[in-house]
Amino acid sequence: MRSPLAHVVIIGGGFAGIAAARGLANQRVSVTIIDRHNFHTFQPLLYQVATAGLEPADIAYPIRTIFGHQKNIRFRHGTVRSVDQERKVVLLSDQREVAFDYLIVATGTVASFFAIPGAREFALPLYTLADARRLRNRLLLSLEAAEVEGLHQRPRLNFVVVGGGPTGVETSGALSELIRIAIRRDGLSLRTDEVRIILADVAPRLLTAFPERASTYAKKELESMNVEVALRRGVVEVLEHSIKFDNGEELDTAAVVWAAGVTVNGTVAQALAPTSGPSGRAIVDGDLRLHGSAHVWVVGDAAAVPSGRGDLCAQLAPVAIQSGRHCAEQVLNVIGGRPTTAFMYHNKGIMATIGRNAAVAKLPRGGVITGILGWLAWLGLHLWYLVGFRNRLRVVINWTWRYFDWPSGPRLIVADVVSDD
Ligand SMILES: Cc1cc2nc3c(=O)[nH]c(=O)nc-3n(C[C@H](O)[C@H](O)[C@H](O)COP(=O)(O)OP(=O)(O)OC[C@H]3O[C@@H](n4cnc5c(N)ncnc54)[C@H](O)[C@@H]3O)c2cc1C
Repeated sequence: MRSPLAHVVIIGGGFAGIAAARGLANQRVSVTIIDRHNFHTFQPLLYQVATAGLEPADIAYPIRTIFGHQKNIRFRHGTVRSVDQERKVVLLSDQREVAFDYLIVATGTVASFFAIPGAREFALPLYTLADARRLRNRLLLSLEAAEVEGLHQRPRLNFVVVGGGPTGVETSGALSELIRIAIRRDGLSLRTDEVRIILADVAPRLLTAFPERASTYAKKELESMNVEVALRRGVVEVLEHSIKFDNGEELDTAAVVWAAGVTVNGTVAQALAPTSGPSGRAIVDGDLRLHGSAHVWVVGDAAAVPSGRGDLCAQLAPVAIQSGRHCAEQVLNVIGGRPTTAFMYHNKGIMATIGRNAAVAKLPRGGVITGILGWLAWLGLHLWYLVGFRNRLRVVINWTWRYFDWPSGPRLIVADVVSDD
């Protein structure tokens, strides 16, 4: 028999979906969270998993465990294919249907390859935990292969990171540290000057969302870590073992990391309405309801979230958390027969770390912090938002260990990508 309580279905257990579910916990509604992964991923630290600083389990947390003690919240593992808004059902890839009274779509984004030939096939994006593990395997396998090659001739090892936003900057810095530690601690006979890390972006500066001072600082720090910063450099093609740039240069590559951008095109959220906003983001009203819908909300990265000040919010974790929380309140308002209220984003600033001791933070009022102060702020904030005390503790221990440069770090090539023979 169906529960008399309104059934709220949340698609996506990322920052937005989890925040929405938390807002509905212990309320007189029945909630089902559907996610294709049985865990919540802390995306801002994916690059640390990819560069062997953290374990996958440090930055992921089972969704069932998060809500284990909440009687009105259930989890369903599955991939949503589409939404039938007329029949109010969600259609899963196993052909089953889940009926809803109210729907919250929090499906995030996917990597955007900008139709650059070969990028989808050969570049390595960094968006899911599986991506991070795949990238880590590739990086470590490349180092091992270069070591073998080095017994016969001097190896050439080029890693190209495409995209000079926070993910590209953070990944390049961490990759440089990984290589330094692998050479210094793991006894690889490679020399640091035999390995090149190139961070390429078509923009004239790194971190374009930050003030220019932060870009200059990030470039200088990366260069001091032997990362070559190639600005105004567009990628025209990615091949299996090389990359071509718009200046005619073709470079052999051990790995191309794709940190060039994200899109909502092709996802469940984009298909909700015939027209969508920038990068396929769903167009929502002030109260975050899908434009023209009475029962469907879209939040987080998947939506073109209005900031409440006349512009759209960036696709950031604090936006996802605040919009998820706000939408839960609006669902309860609608159920309770109260008017909904408009979302107003509280700017928390933005940050990017460059390596140990170096980070840039843009404060809500526009000021910039760099250096160790920025790094400590970054550290504290990321620990605060990590889900689960166990994860926080493990990350603190791992980071402290690594800070003092002991030979730590999960530099393991896992068996499922290496032939067992
Ligand atoms: C590498 C990286 C680094 C980042 N660093 C920062 C940072 O430093 N600071 C910051 O503020 N932001 C950062 N961001 C952005 C931030 O992570 C996102 O803004 C935030 O995760 C968005 O939350 P969300 O809940 O909207 O989507 P997501 O966190 O992407 O969650 C979407 C969820 O939906 C699920 N899902 C998607 N489609 C389906 C489907 N069809 N069926 C079932 N489940 C589905 C996914 O499995 C996922 O769990 C980073 C992002 C990335 C990728």
